[in-house]
Amino acid sequence: MLIVPEREIADLMTRQAAFDAVEQVFAAMASGDAYNFPVVREAIGHEDALYGFKGGFDRAGLTLGLKAGGYWPNNLEKRGLINHQSTVFLFDPDTGKPSAMVGGNLLTALRTAAASSVSIKHLARRDAKVIGMIGAGHQAAFQLRAALEQRACEKVIGWNYHPEMLPNIEKVANEAGVPFQAVELDEMTEADVIISITSAFAPSLMANHVSPGTHIACMGTDTKGKQEVEAALLAKASVFTDEIAQSVSIGEAQHAVAEGLIQESDVAQLGAVINGTDPGRISDNQITLFDGTGVGLQDLAVAASVVDLAVRKGVAIEVDF
Ligand code: NAD
Repeated sequence: MLIVPEREIADLMTRQAAFDAVEQVFAAMASGDAYNFPVVREAIGHEDALYGFKGGFDRAGLTLGLKAGGYWPNNLEKRGLINHQSTVFLFDPDTGKPSAMVGGNLLTALRTAAASSVSIKHLARRDAKVIGMIGAGHQAAFQLRAALEQRACEKVIGWNYHPEMLPNIEKVANEAGVPFQAVELDEMTEADVIISITSAFAPSLMANHVSPGTHIACMGTDTKGKQEVEAALLAKASVFTDEIAQSVSIGEAQHAVAEGLIQESDVAQLGAVINGTDPGRISDNQITLFDGTGVGLQDLAVAASVVDLAVRKGVAIEVDF
């Protein structure tokens, strides 16, 4: 069995490798070659932690395994550790033997940024120039960095519930040589692409904050009850997702479906657009919305990719198991 520790991931994994792995696995999901197992997520009654498993099997990429981990809210204050903790375990699909154990913390941010980036590649207008950010936390910086590589961006605008955090994303824009402007939510109408990545339980982005032709990637809502955008916005948009079952139960679409504004059949898989079986964006006036809920197969895909890189660079630790 191979081990790739968390400390090695930053030097191994590139945004491009994460993008390629996620694009391929979304395509495999839509063609029926890969499927996610039901998610387990439990409040374990210790340290206020939420712990769970996200797994799946990709028959095309021959990737089998799970990501185990969750959220320990006291880690940072009590122990100087990050609150989100995860580890990916890969298994040989021919034998069931464990093949790799991979640090999953940085990989989670990279695969989540890759997902919205894949959605921008396939759904945003080609001439998109202004990226709007809702959120300025840990994930937001990764999201913006990846999004800036998809279109010739001339300006980043940003809003955050905690405005003092906006310098986190201003720094990323400036490093890419793109000017940044803090805005009010009603000024988001200037954006051609909007990414929302917050832990909110009530909508910030309303339907009237979005112009025709915009692509929105809703990345923060991954749990029942969370919500970042007004449900009416989904009714105005063409809605795409990583995994339809998750979108309507724990993703952004849960609210629009519960309110009867859209039906499950209105939500399409981004993978179908990648495969060319769904036309995706069909007009410059259409609002497209990607509901990125985060699936186990994304984790397995980037973990498998990083194991290959670690082997090639000779930094994977081999253990007899
Ligand atoms: P973080 O704690 O670093 O940042 C949280 C962000 O949410 C900040 O911008 C904060 O200002 C904002 N926020 C907090 N309360 C808010 C409120 N009431 N209204 C509006 N905004 C509010 O967290 P993070 O690591 O950046 O994660 C952000 C979200 O992304 C979390 O909900 C997390 O669960 C989710 N996430 C999703 C995926 C996925 O695959 N879809 C993957 C990883 C994380």
